[in-house]
Amino acid sequence: MAKEQLTCVSCGRRISPTLRAVAFYCPNCGTTRIIRCYTCRQYGREYVCPSCSFVGP
Ligand SMILES: [Zn+2]
Ligand SMILES: [Zn+2]
Repeated sequence: MAKEQLTCVSCGRRISPTLRAVAFYCPNCGTTRIIRCYTCRQYGREYVCPSCSFVGP
């Protein structure tokens, strides 16, 4: 079973399993998973969907 690589879409850092991160599907295209680390969520940094270039808060 391959481990899914978790990389924050906002800061590009790999997410440690010990840190709380949020993962959700892009609200625009619904096919790409957006993963944000706890820090970026706290600061409300923007994210960009790599598939459809949707920018969200
Ligand atoms: Zn981040
Ligand atoms: Zn998208």
